[in-house]
Amino acid sequence: MDRASYFSNSRRIVVKVGSSVLTGNEGLNLKAVRSISRQVSRIIDQNREVLLVSSGAQAAGTRKIGLSRRPDELPKRQAVAAVGQAGLIMEYEKAFARYHKKVAQILLTNDGLSHRKRYLNARNTLYALLSWGVVPVINENDTVSVMEIQFGDNDNLAALITLMMDAHLLIALSDIDGLYTKNPAAHADAALIPVVTQITKEVEAMAGNLPGSLGTGGMVSKIEAARKLASAGIPMVIANGNRPNILLDLMSGKALGTFFVPKKSRLSGRKSWIAFNLKPKGVIRIDSGAAKAVCKGGKSLLPSGVIGVEGEFQVGAPVAFSSNNRILGTGLVNYSAADIRKIMGLKTSRIKERLGYKPYDEVIHRDNLVLTADASAEE
Ligand code: ADP
Repeated sequence: MDRASYFSNSRRIVVKVGSSVLTGNEGLNLKAVRSISRQVSRIIDQNREVLLVSSGAQAAGTRKIGLSRRPDELPKRQAVAAVGQAGLIMEYEKAFARYHKKVAQILLTNDGLSHRKRYLNARNTLYALLSWGVVPVINENDTVSVMEIQFGDNDNLAALITLMMDAHLLIALSDIDGLYTKNPAAHADAALIPVVTQITKEVEAMAGNLPGSLGTGGMVSKIEAARKLASAGIPMVIANGNRPNILLDLMSGKALGTFFVPKKSRLSGRKSWIAFNLKPKGVIRIDSGAAKAVCKGGKSLLPSGVIGVEGEFQVGAPVAFSSNNRILGTGLVNYSAADIRKIMGLKTSRIKERLGYKPYDEVIHRDNLVLTADASAEE
């Protein structure tokens, strides 16, 4: 499929607006809020559905409280976000009302989405809003999110929402035209990359590891989001939210920003939940033969290919697996960490003799196994 077709075929779209776009000299950048609301309304009028993931609460709150800069301490940041979130949603409500659209505020925590029941519930709520033509304005629930449970950045949250809602496209708006060969703030010779067909180590290196000045994500988290989506068969584009009519231009097929080409196959809802909503409880190290069988051959993971186990986990836990120190995917295990340590390297026929029982042949059955790295980028 060519690039323009991905856009024209997208009926359900997630638009993520970064804090870099929404932060102005006077706190919240109202011009940006209005421009995005106008464009999103137009896209909805084209008979599409749009979910908005919007940062900007901290920027709005910092100014409202009268602080000169965003506080460093977590509780103060959370407090500032709580103040700003109210103003942010109010401005969206006003801006969308001009186009006869209603908005709904959705605040999410990551631990909410790692419980299957709550995940399904959140999804049903969002489907109901979309069916009424309401625009969900989604943000991380900054007040309750502490280190372990937070999404970390809205790029990741936007990717999870895209997967959860079976959306066809994620548009990430930032203050820059897209991904450059190096950080343009520091290198005058940096060049814009229009298309990324595969997220290789070279692509990762371009993003460096420094987050942007305002956001917490920077390019690193955007590439991480693109990787998740690509492996699930969903395209993503990074584009400049300050460019007038950027969303409308993208939807009409203009080749702007950086486009991440997805893999051909789409993941099922259940598999994407396993891969992206569950936090792995450990890592199973596998040898190159097993990596090939699992990544290229679509096989289950057997004990014979396991060479090490990190962490403690029980039967049914989500566990990552790696080869040569690179995480390849996640799966739900049929054996506990302790049992895998006993049977690793063994042929399936010898499991019973070692453990005294053999409920399964596989350590991870292929139905419960999801590849998250690009297998062909491994070699
Ligand atoms: P947002 O708030 O929109 O999520 P961030 O400020 O977190 O955006 O990230 C965007 C910033 O990432 C850019 O403004 C730029 O300074 C920085 N950056 C670092 N490396 C790159 C790169 N290779 N290409 C583009 N931007 C980069």
